[in-house]
Amino acid sequence: MFYDEIKHYNWTDTTKCIASKSAKDVEIALGKEHLSIDDFMALISPAAVPYLEPMAQLSHQYTMERFGKTMSMYIPLYISNACTNFCVYCGFNHDNPITRTTLSMTQIEEECKAIRRLGPFENLLIVTGEHPLIAGVDYLEKALQVARPYFNNLSIEVMPLKTEDYHRLTLSGLNGVVCFQETYNEANYKKYHPKGMKSLYDWRLNGYDRMGQAGVHKIGMGVLIGLEDWRTDIVMMARHLRYLRKNYWKTKYSVNFPRMRPSEGHFQPNVVMSDKELAQVTFAFRIFDHDVDISYSTRENPSFRANMMKLGVTSMSAGSKTEPGGYVSTPEALEQFEVSDNRSPEQVADEIRKLGYEVVWKDWDKVFD
Ligand code: SF4
Repeated sequence: MFYDEIKHYNWTDTTKCIASKSAKDVEIALGKEHLSIDDFMALISPAAVPYLEPMAQLSHQYTMERFGKTMSMYIPLYISNACTNFCVYCGFNHDNPITRTTLSMTQIEEECKAIRRLGPFENLLIVTGEHPLIAGVDYLEKALQVARPYFNNLSIEVMPLKTEDYHRLTLSGLNGVVCFQETYNEANYKKYHPKGMKSLYDWRLNGYDRMGQAGVHKIGMGVLIGLEDWRTDIVMMARHLRYLRKNYWKTKYSVNFPRMRPSEGHFQPNVVMSDKELAQVTFAFRIFDHDVDISYSTRENPSFRANMMKLGVTSMSAGSKTEPGGYVSTPEALEQFEVSDNRSPEQVADEIRKLGYEVVWKDWDKVFD
């Protein structure tokens, strides 16, 4: 399990190692086709900032080779904002006095129909807070069964589950699981996740192994930018990805670098990542792992998403509502975070086509299950 593996890597030493990288290290990394973690550290270090242009070109080249001129589209469906956790940065935090909504199966079906009217989406990401009693495995299983006739590719972003529960959900059409570790800094992890199941660092970290063992087709990873030193967190995630690829080689992977947005909790980010730095991380990740899906959500603004489309990003959400019931009505329940790109899916798709890219609504079919 990765919790045993990560003990070999010290957070402070990793931070120092990244900071020690030189222009020479960056040039060596850019000259290789297959990068080590050490090379990756060079590409996300401050020493690589003068090399953004060649990094962008290389990232574009690998993206074209592996994905062509395509952009995969997905949409999230929030079905419950009930949560037993206390993440200090989140609007759904158990202590926040917001209206809690858990959609019934009839409401979920209405949301599915409303999404189909928005655009020809086939990739649906079902999202809940973490509440085992209200939004547990039975509820998720029924939700997948309701959504399955409407969408070919179903993923979930919910609490970490047991291996047997992931496997059980694959029998109801589950294809992908997205889970953000938030931060790999174990010493500070509890500051942000003080209580509830999410406070258990190793349970969350080993969740990716359980997904792999259960045969989940695609695993989505991410760290929340704004908690700890983002360079160190992203190197840890790269180590984690490499470990998963070695152990669960049949699985596909995606990465996401969500930058913290304002929320009801009014948590101020400890660190801020600029657009230029996010671009650097995106290029570095593509050069490090040519096949990984790099996903940008509607947290990012339209012009930045458009600029990055040709330079490494391979999937995007559009038209997202981050409150339960948000596609059918404008409910009282609060959003989990504010979106930056409020354009309709058709507007986003039009822009993708204008840039000469094909919009991919469907890249998976139930027949492959
Ligand atoms: S981040 Fe997730 S687990 Fe944490 S409070 Fe928000 S919804 Fe709950």
